[in-house]
Amino acid sequence: MYTLIDGKKVAAEVRAETARGVAAFEREHGRKIGLAVVLCGEDKASLVYVRNKIKACGETGIMSYSYSLPGDATQDALEELVSSLAADDRIDGILVQLPLPKGLDAERALKLIPAEKDVDGFSDVNIGRLALGSECLAACTPNGVMKLLSAYGISVKGKKAVVVGRSQIVGRPMAMLLLNADATVTVCHSRTADLKAECLQADILIAAVGKEGFITADMVKEGAVVIDVGINRNAEGKLCGDVDFANVCGKCSYITPVPGGVGPMTIAMLMHNTLAAAKARG
Ligand code: NAP
Repeated sequence: MYTLIDGKKVAAEVRAETARGVAAFEREHGRKIGLAVVLCGEDKASLVYVRNKIKACGETGIMSYSYSLPGDATQDALEELVSSLAADDRIDGILVQLPLPKGLDAERALKLIPAEKDVDGFSDVNIGRLALGSECLAACTPNGVMKLLSAYGISVKGKKAVVVGRSQIVGRPMAMLLLNADATVTVCHSRTADLKAECLQADILIAAVGKEGFITADMVKEGAVVIDVGINRNAEGKLCGDVDFANVCGKCSYITPVPGGVGPMTIAMLMHNTLAAAKARG
């Protein structure tokens, strides 16, 4: 029998804990914590994400400052905005919602976010610190996975963890967080020679591929912990993960559902990172 990992519940706990921290920070420092959210264009999914992030700020007591640029904004306009936020004392965290419309260079814009305000954990400095095992603002989704594991008392130390996916926002930071927590980590990707054999070694299997039902039961070791980061739409338009949940769950000790697993953790960890950034700035 498996345990279903309830991301909504853990995310609510993280938000409540963050709200307490935000209130304590305000009392101590006599100022509000601020998160700037920059949206370029009108991508539907991005609009929903931004709306949810602003709502989470409201729930945790963080001031949100929302900036919208048109889809045909110039690189200069975007960079000017990010630079002004970097210098703005009210702002503890800066978030540029990705993906940016065609013609805008995300890498150049993100480079203008100072590491101490990089609450997404995407900057070279934060990724470098993460790789060194130093204190940093870590990317929200993989950091959320670590929080889920600890919330369920799942020890990572000495375990064999396999991460399928090596993207900059999920797979790579996920592997580094697991390594920093003393797991023995394998990272798989589209050129991995024998993916099934690698996955079958996993005590903890993390799927971050972006393909519906990609992880099948024959790839999962009996008793494994399976974390599904994927967010996909199936043929009926319903949200689904990368794991063939119906057939995989019977082999697991713990498993995350989609929706309601890793998804809710991302925004909760963004709030957590914003509080951490404010505390570091003082
Ligand atoms: P991505 O940038 O497209 O990366 C996908 C990774 O999967 C790549 O490293 C790719 O390998 C690997 N891959 C693709 N096909 C493969 C195959 N046949 N065998 C082995 N590996 C394969 O995606 P991402 O941004 O990491 O996102 C992954 C999923 O997580 C998506 O469904 C996304 O929507 C979801 N996501 C969820 C959250 C959340 O809040 N829960 C946040 C971010 C992303 P190569 O590097 O070799 O191409």
